[in-house]
Amino acid sequence: PADVEELGRSTWTFLHTVAATYPESATEQQQKEMKAFLETFSKIYPCWFCAKGFRKYIKANEPKVMTQDEFGRWLCDAHNAVNKKLGKPHFDCNLWKKRWKDGWGD
Ligand code: FAD
Repeated sequence: PADVEELGRSTWTFLHTVAATYPESATEQQQKEMKAFLETFSKIYPCWFCAKGFRKYIKANEPKVMTQDEFGRWLCDAHNAVNKKLGKPHFDCNLWKKRWKDGWGD
């Protein structure tokens, strides 16, 4: 449905932008907080079947939150897992920072 798609687009924008502003090298505390956020997010995301899928994903693929690049790529992989499920194109995760931080520069 349209609201699931609209919510999804907005939420991916939010999540990738959070990754783009995550510390280059996160402290133990920041890592702990990001893991706790993802855990909570996966319980309150208001598309329940999406939330269920995300909970399953983070259980099987522990969030990598030591550095900005590591977190950005982990999130990109998570997004790609949803893309795959929905038959959407795979996104090249080498480009995550270009898309969500630096811009395409054209
Ligand atoms: P989106 O997938 O919303 O992507 C927005 C933009 O992000 C794209 O235009 C592209 O520029 C960029 N992008 C694409 N892939 C990546 C990537 N891998 N890394 C970085 N940037 C990328 N919908 C369902 O129907 N079923 C589900 O189970 C489901 N689970 C979801 C789980 C989560 C946690 C979230 C946030 C959303 C989920 N959605 C789900 C919604 C779905 O992922 C899409 O957001 C929605 O279908 C709209 O798709 P879109 O084509 O506009 O692009």
